[in-house]
Amino acid sequence: MLVDTGFAGNAAAAPSPAAAGPAPTAGAPAAPPAVGRDAERILAVLKQANVTVLDYLVITHYHGDHVGGAADLASRIPIRNFVDHGPYTVELQPNRSAGFVAYRTVRDRARAIVPKPGDQLPIAGLDVLVVSSASALMTTPIPGAPAAGAPNPLCRNARLKVPDPTPENTESIGLVVRYGNFRLLNLGDLTWNQEHQLVCPDNLLGTFDVFHTTRHGDPNSGAPQMVHALRARIAVMNNGERKGGAPEYWQMVRDAPGLGDLWQLHRSAAGAATHNSPEQFLANLNETDHGHHLKLSARADGSFVMTNERTQFTKEYPERATRATRTSAP
Ligand SMILES: [Zn+2]
Repeated sequence: MLVDTGFAGNAAAAPSPAAAGPAPTAGAPAAPPAVGRDAERILAVLKQANVTVLDYLVITHYHGDHVGGAADLASRIPIRNFVDHGPYTVELQPNRSAGFVAYRTVRDRARAIVPKPGDQLPIAGLDVLVVSSASALMTTPIPGAPAAGAPNPLCRNARLKVPDPTPENTESIGLVVRYGNFRLLNLGDLTWNQEHQLVCPDNLLGTFDVFHTTRHGDPNSGAPQMVHALRARIAVMNNGERKGGAPEYWQMVRDAPGLGDLWQLHRSAAGAATHNSPEQFLANLNETDHGHHLKLSARADGSFVMTNERTQFTKEYPERATRATRTSAP
């Protein structure tokens, strides 16, 4: 089981048995009153899955919305291993280092794994590959991944962007999670130009079933030369009502070739009537609600089910036709 805290944060909790079900991450509050709230929400989801110990907690990077709840969570459930980009932050503004400072006290007493791109996290039943960490990126195609290593024609007229002034984002741990034929990409808050490097001139990542949007749908990330090359069947945007969810990012994902649905953690205020998905794909309609989550249950054949916990709306995504054809061929 993999839990992704989405807007609240981006850490992957991975209890061992191959429970097949990616869902939320262990995350972090943007403001102090939210601390207990986020830990409680994570614990509630873990309880549903009968998880009493977290084997791995991935802290993508040290911004408050990704690490701020880690110490609180650690006080409520045993965490065997922390996975992060290293014992430092490059974010020097005092108002941005608070999350790291709180986490460091817990980290110092725990077992921390600092993976390099290309490393696998040793999670039983899941194939979890690190593709970015501490500003380093994978430089070779993911072995055995569908379409990985193919030239990417979208690189020809691809744009780069001036890096934004929040350097900690470039440190993000990015993960490719595979369960049988099912593949999910989650790059945390990795930046536009780094996304570009992962797929240009060759797409090192391959194609996916699920794309978890980078940086909550903020236009400092979301390079179309990457997102459109992923051929994801659905995207999950971990946006808040007023965080990420930018109309241009939303539209870029919506226009991705082969994309079925774009699920969102919140309705985006900026997206208004034209740049939000239909309500059944929105976990929360505003931020004064109850922190509803989206649940993804994947099967080894590559099929998966999405559930909107707010409405109990579910949608089945069957095994890919090409694979089905191949397996049923004489
Ligand atoms: Zn973030």
